[in-house]
Order: sequence, then structure tokens, then C-alpha cells
Amino acid sequence: YTQAKALVYSKYGDPSEVLSLHTHSISPSLPPNQLLLRTLASPINPADINQIQGVYPSKPPFTSLLGTSVPSAVAGNEACFEVQSIGSSIKSVAKGDWVIMRSTGFGTWRTHALAEEKDILRVEKGGLTEIQAATVGVNPTTAWRMLVDFENLEGGRDWFIQNGANSGVGRAAIQLGREWGLKSINIIRDRKTPEETESMKKELLDLGATKVITESELQSRSTVSEIKEWTSGKNLKLGLNCVGGPVTLALVKTLSPGGHLVTYGAMSKQPLSLPTGLLIFKDLKFSGFWVSRWSDANSAEKEKTVESILQMTREGRFKDIPVQEMRWEWATEGERLVEAVGGGLEGFRSGKGVLVF
Ligand code: NDP
Repeated sequence: YTQAKALVYSKYGDPSEVLSLHTHSISPSLPPNQLLLRTLASPINPADINQIQGVYPSKPPFTSLLGTSVPSAVAGNEACFEVQSIGSSIKSVAKGDWVIMRSTGFGTWRTHALAEEKDILRVEKGGLTEIQAATVGVNPTTAWRMLVDFENLEGGRDWFIQNGANSGVGRAAIQLGREWGLKSINIIRDRKTPEETESMKKELLDLGATKVITESELQSRSTVSEIKEWTSGKNLKLGLNCVGGPVTLALVKTLSPGGHLVTYGAMSKQPLSLPTGLLIFKDLKFSGFWVSRWSDANSAEKEKTVESILQMTREGRFKDIPVQEMRWEWATEGERLVEAVGGGLEGFRSGKGVLVF
């Protein structure tokens, strides 16, 4: 028997209060259509925290499948797993292969999981780290689709502008833009000191950002007219919105006529309110993107997108996000869970938390 552990919750609330560690055992005799997976790495994404809080639209069902005393769900949505053993009818993967989940909602903050072939995507592991495979399916995939699916941007000419530029999604968009010849204006929050702001700007410029400005710089008239000059007043066709709230209005106002704002996050937790003239006279378009919905509807395309990003990663053309690695045993021992998972949404973090097993 395999001794397995999982971070589960049976009611919604603050992760540090509602998560608990559940131990169970998995039988060595697998049904023919199942695989036993061992988790290698799993990130702590903002959506994971919102899901546990009960404020996220997709809610995994509470069940008693793992033998918990009350019906529960396993937290986490993204991970890299190693195939530990396979049922007799499994053909597409072998022991030792790496896989990621095809969809979100599977529950990944656990040491082991039983899955079926339809749940997984095999990842060619050569040249990759566990963390690279564990973080490809949500953030970089989101950035890729938003740059490609909403406006027809032309390399060498067109620009996009984004806030939350130092987020996982933002860093991915910067790098994909660089690869495709798209120029980017990247908005970050002012850091605590000017030195820290400069160092964050440099980090993003090194990744391939064309311009990096702070939220407060975006408020100044001179920056707004500079943006017009850079983009010839007509080539800023796409905005990516991670933040919402009044700071996003300043971004929207820089878009060229006919431009398109794609919203994918709401880190400020504030609504976006817009002067109607931007829709009537400037013909701006507003859309939303949700990678979970897109992945479920475009399974083959998701596979291709993930493989393309991983190939760029192997070739050194796509850099990792900064992460804070947390050993599973450390994170799940005693009070440390609060530190590990509880801080998952606080701003100004030095990197995304990733559980490593
Ligand atoms: P990361 O954990 O990598 O980064 C978080 C980002 O949010 C940082 O840039 C941080 O900036 C910023 N931030 C935190 N608090 C605030 C605040 N109060 N106001 C403005 N910015 C803030 O995030 P991800 O890239 O994983 O996710 C970013 C957002 O995108 C989340 O809302 C997430 O849910 C969403 N998302 C949506 C997807 C979709 O399909 N719709 C897919 C993937 C992500 P700072 O360093 O200044 O704190």
C-alpha cells in the first residue's frame, strides 16, 4: 500500500483555518484504466486560494472518496506528476513518465493521486525541471491565448499594454511578445523604495519588456503622451488586465482607437468602471478570458500550446517565474501551513509559492 497525504477542506474559508492534512492509503492493485501518480511539484496560484475561500466560480465537489470523516475536496489545481504505476489497459503513458492535468479542478496538493488517461497530458520531460512542467498549464497558456486569440497583432509593428506585469501571466506575456516581435508596455506597482522599483523594471526589461512603467507614472500626462509617440497613436491594440479598479482605467485610456482590453484577473478586488465615450467614440472592445473554460473547450489546442511553451523552455527562450520553493513535509507540518499557503495572495512577494515533494 502507498501511504498518501492530501491537503483537504470540507468547508470554505481562510486556507490556514479550513485546510487539513488527511492521510490515506492507496491499494497496489489498480483497476485496469487507472494510473497512480506521485506529485513532484504544485504551485500555489491566486485561484487556488480563492477556490478554498469559496469565492471562485469553479468549486470541486466535496466527496468521501479519500475516506475523510466529512465530505471534502483536495485543494490545488496545477501540478507535475510522475507516473508511479499503471493499470493493465493503459497504453499512452508508462511508469516514470511526467504528466500534468488536462483540466483544472483535479486537486493537486497531495502526495499521490489516482487518475485516468483522459485526465492527463503527457509531458516529454527531457530538458525540463519539475517546476517548469508544473507551472506551464495555467499562466503561460493564458498569456499565449490572450496575445493570439483576441486581436491580430503584427510582429514588428503592434504593441500591447498590461498591468500586473510582474505576475506569472505578465512575465509570460512579455517573453512571448519578445519572441513574436510584439512590443510591450508593462505596468508594475510602485515598490517600497525607488531602488526596488528600478530593480523590478530591470528584471522585466531583461525578460524582453519594451517599456516598464509604474502605476504612478501612468497617471502623469507626460507618460501618456510618450505612449502615444511610441505607438504612433494607432498600434496599441491590446490591453491585458490582471488588476481591475481605477488604475486599469488609466491603462484603458492609452489604447488606440478600436483597441481591445482582455481581463483575466482582479487582483485589486475593485470593479472596473468606464466612461461610455470609450465604447461609443473610441470603439474599444472589452472581453474576458478564463483558461479553465478555454482548456475544456479546446483540448487539442491546449496540448499544442503547452508543448510549444515547453519547447521554448527547453531551448532557453522562456524563463521560469521566480518561485519560493516549499518542501511539502515542511509546509504541512504544524503551524507552517499558515505561512506557506496563507500568504498566497499577499502582494510584493518575491516569488510564487510552489510545493515541492
Ligand atoms: P502571481 O501570483 O504570479 O502574481 C500576482 C500579481 O498580482 C503580482 O503581479 C502582484 O503585484 C499583483 N498584485 C497583488 N496584489 C495586488 C493588488 N492589490 N493590486 C494590484 N496588483 C496586485 O499571479 P498569477 O500570474 O498566477 O495570477 C495573476 C492574476 O491572474 C490572478 O488574479 C489570477 O487569478 C489571474 N489568472 C487568471 C487566469 C484566467 O484564466 N483568467 C489564469 C491565470 C491567472 P505586486 O508584485 O506588485 O504585488
